[in-house]
Amino acid sequence: MSRGRLAVHAHFYQPLRIDPWTGEVPAEPSAAPFHDWNHRVDAECYRPNAERGSLAHISWNLGPTLAGWLAVEDPATYRRFVAESAAAIAQPFHHSILPLASAADRRTEIRWGIRDFEIRFGRRPAGLWLPETAVDLATLRDAEAEGIEFTILAPWQAATSGIDTRRPYRVELGDDRTIVVVFYDGGLSASASFEPEATADADRFARERVAPRLGGGPEPLESPIALIATDGELYGHHRQFRDLFLQRLVVPGAATEDRSFDVVTVDQIVAEPADHPHPAIRIAERTSWSCHHGVARWSAECPDAADGRWKGPLRAAFERLAGAIDVVTSTAFAALPGDADPEAARDAYVDVVVGRITAADFASQCWPTADDRARRRALDLLEAQRWRLAMFASDGWYWDDPIRPETRQVLRAAGRAARLVDREGTQIERRLVADLELLTSPSRGLDGAAIYRMALADVDQPPPADH
Ligand SMILES: [Zn+2]
Repeated sequence: MSRGRLAVHAHFYQPLRIDPWTGEVPAEPSAAPFHDWNHRVDAECYRPNAERGSLAHISWNLGPTLAGWLAVEDPATYRRFVAESAAAIAQPFHHSILPLASAADRRTEIRWGIRDFEIRFGRRPAGLWLPETAVDLATLRDAEAEGIEFTILAPWQAATSGIDTRRPYRVELGDDRTIVVVFYDGGLSASASFEPEATADADRFARERVAPRLGGGPEPLESPIALIATDGELYGHHRQFRDLFLQRLVVPGAATEDRSFDVVTVDQIVAEPADHPHPAIRIAERTSWSCHHGVARWSAECPDAADGRWKGPLRAAFERLAGAIDVVTSTAFAALPGDADPEAARDAYVDVVVGRITAADFASQCWPTADDRARRRALDLLEAQRWRLAMFASDGWYWDDPIRPETRQVLRAAGRAARLVDREGTQIERRLVADLELLTSPSRGLDGAAIYRMALADVDQPPPADH
């Protein structure tokens, strides 16, 4: 048996904190002495990990909305991410749960994430990190259709029993298409995340945790792998000094002991010898890494929340809002001169969102014969589409209660989208407010309409719900 291989994947992501109205991150007193949590997590995690040189020796994805913030607020750290991005992979743009998204939204989120990656790192990504590793076959098909070769899943997301996480697998997608899945090592990843004493000493972790995993398993393998996949914020933010642990674990020369294994990145693992294809397996559809009840955590009731009755109505309200926005958008685009396909325009609009092109230039390229008023209207609707996509970010449903800042943020995104559309003379915000009345905060007893009004109090008062 040849030497085993260790790979580490870090999922770097923060909820979108940029305000839909101001484009700024509001002050968050709970992050003191920092202005907001982005700055605090940057100081505790992104910057030290970049400075320690660890990024070149692990796989990682940097959520697009976080990457955009880092580029502006900490350009030195951002430049290190870019310089050490050889093994980076992409992420759908807004961290929404793709198996819960409409087909069109799923495609747009993947395309925006890939395009953002291409603009930042100068190449197409080979891998895609799925938000919360939430997966179904349709999502894998869409990813593969955009040129994605692999993703990373939790071991319990395999539908085939008896998988060995020390090797990659292949999922058949139909039409002779396949995608590679690397399952992370559940035990190692959990101990890295949740057992502080396990990661106090990188040499001991390598000797006592990693080496036995590579040597164990159901049968001897040619070159076994162990993949540790966690939130990247583990290394320094969730756990102090774990940036030092990571450096010592993966950076050549940082360890004081010889390792019995090599450190590799995930893209090196997936390469498939022509005479030795990865075995095929089936995935468990609509599953994820942080909910053991499928994807219920982001759509329904499951034991992850003491009282999750608010989650279903919130998603339903947003889905109705999204449908209404789409109808107004396609009606308005049909009135534009030429071949104005709203879906294609929305897919391309990511270049405006990430600042690659100005909105005015985008409009004159897309609709050269339209007058200024028609262009402004079309741009308003695409900006509404942007916030309509952002409102589905998984953070809004992750926690126990809709009173939290993460849900406030998705409500503000929804409000921004609705108001941009209502410039057309529609009343979709009014319907949104009425739909939000159907949910209640377990801790405060307030209904969703009241929470929405509180969330938008600084903008101006939304209309009363009609009954
Ligand atoms: Zn759950």
